[in-house]
Amino acid sequence: MNPLRISLLLLITTFLNAGISAQTSLFVPRNIRKAYEKGTRSWDGKPGARYWQNRADYVISASLDPKSHRLSGEETITYFNNSPDTLKMIRIKLQHDRYRKGAGRAGDVTAGDVTDEGVRIDWVKYNGAPVEEKQRRRFTTFMDIQVKENPVLPGSSVSVQVKWSYTLPAGEDAARECVCDSSSFFVPYWYPQVAVYDDLNGWASFPYTGLQEFYNDFSNYDVTITMPAGFQVWATGEWQNAADILADTWYQRWKKAQTSTEVISIFSEKELRAGGVYKTRQPNAFRFRATDVPDFAFGTSDHYNWDAVSTVVDDRTGRRTFVSAAYMSSSTDYPQVARIGADAIRLMSTYLPGYPFPYPVMTVFNGNDGMEFPMMCNDVSTAPGSPMTLTVHEISHTYFPFMMGINEQDYAWMDEGWAAFFDVLISDSLSSHQLGRPRPYSAVAGTEDDVPPMVRSRNLGTAYRNAAYQRPQNAYFTLLDHLGYEKFHNCMTAYMDRWKGKHPAPFDFFQTWNEVSGENLDWFWRSWFFDWGYPDLALQGVVRDEAANCQVVVIGRNGNIPTPVQLKVEYSDGTSDNFHHTAGIWKDGKQNLKIRIPQGKSVKKATLGAVTIPDVTPADNTWEAGR
Ligand SMILES: [Zn+2]
Repeated sequence: MNPLRISLLLLITTFLNAGISAQTSLFVPRNIRKAYEKGTRSWDGKPGARYWQNRADYVISASLDPKSHRLSGEETITYFNNSPDTLKMIRIKLQHDRYRKGAGRAGDVTAGDVTDEGVRIDWVKYNGAPVEEKQRRRFTTFMDIQVKENPVLPGSSVSVQVKWSYTLPAGEDAARECVCDSSSFFVPYWYPQVAVYDDLNGWASFPYTGLQEFYNDFSNYDVTITMPAGFQVWATGEWQNAADILADTWYQRWKKAQTSTEVISIFSEKELRAGGVYKTRQPNAFRFRATDVPDFAFGTSDHYNWDAVSTVVDDRTGRRTFVSAAYMSSSTDYPQVARIGADAIRLMSTYLPGYPFPYPVMTVFNGNDGMEFPMMCNDVSTAPGSPMTLTVHEISHTYFPFMMGINEQDYAWMDEGWAAFFDVLISDSLSSHQLGRPRPYSAVAGTEDDVPPMVRSRNLGTAYRNAAYQRPQNAYFTLLDHLGYEKFHNCMTAYMDRWKGKHPAPFDFFQTWNEVSGENLDWFWRSWFFDWGYPDLALQGVVRDEAANCQVVVIGRNGNIPTPVQLKVEYSDGTSDNFHHTAGIWKDGKQNLKIRIPQGKSVKKATLGAVTIPDVTPADNTWEAGR
């Protein structure tokens, strides 16, 4: 082959490659690349012209027996197939089957909570006709319903009806859900729910093991929960029939709290025990409706206190969010929670992420965990400590993974990293800098447990937490420092405008921020999300630059993960200076940085670092003259 032909071939190959993996220098897995080729996603970071996602309407009627802990329900799911594919089966999630004998689990469960049958299915109907047992396949936490004879055609909808029941896990190891005391319950992951069928992988196939949290489509819910006399229900969605259930005094308080900027006690344990809060001494059916939410959870008790307050979340329209705390009297931190929740929601709407809070209600329920659901949190009491960081963290999940429909089975860092970032900055701001500390990434950075976040979350065990929380949280701090608040906020707003109510995946995020920031940030994404490694800057020393007639502080980059340079220099004359460079100073691969000291000054001590800058060897971050 002559040289000319070789270079022509090279040109053609380069051109073709550019067409395939256009506009990113990052590694794109083959399954993900297909979505861009098919046009469901787009290299400019926007949803593609052919983007689609499926959805459902749920009408659920359920009741819980507080004595036996038996939860029973009947539901109708109307499932809309917006995909271009003909679906020959419908995959239903039965997440309580995590407690079925033989199920795979990421963590321990209490032996007494494990049952042979898991979720009991009394019957299933498809478009009104009974579905025989042989048409259903139970495996892990799924039930596949075969509908080959009458498939779900593109652009059509079908109905699935299920009658089911199971016993709530009451053991110590029950996480995210609880029999919180003898007559208080938090109930998530509870109803038969259609799994996600998406443009990236088809039917979601990863079971609920208790570690990874959510991946759900956006759906509408109309849910009625029936409880014995004296119980209250708090749930995802807006309460439809308060006037039918609460006696007038308490109904008026509930009405008033909808627009009150001061916390109002809707009722106390004492009032509940005295009786009269409810109109009748009969069981009550609580009805809730929610639109375009990815899940539904509820909590119930006959003796929890209920505080509520409201805050404006959109100054343009005056739209408000109604914020509640429901708690046991022994939780001495909980009287602060409604106030913290409302103040945090206000800051989330105006500061970070700086996007109007999407939900009309938010309830923090005193449970056994720190766990978010749309419009609901299951938060353990943190007394005698402050409930602030936990409250802020769980509420902030409203944005990721709920408003932005993140797939946490694969990309938990796309939501936990953000919640861990918001909880620091918002707690810091609400507490006059008393609370809000970054999670310690440095201790694990660069070890075998520091797996790059781009490894799917489903493939992680002990490395899950660091990859989902610590490392991305530190990455987002680094990014905020590099872009500055205004540019960072513009990127965030554009990302949310593009992908709210949808399912963004990593390259949609990377490409949107690249485009909106006007800067190719691939150097940053690669180091923080794709590569093994660690952050480590070091003070190499102070030398004299004869030509410039001044001292120079030399900073070495000993680790590959780029972090900002924050340098404090104290001079022998008692004065000092601070020098700052964002992580961008390292983007071209330089190994050290020389910082010139003003002429005539002599360095006594130099110190590198800040609380938001991870560094695996803090011991080499100081330099002192004569030592
Ligand atoms: Zn979280």
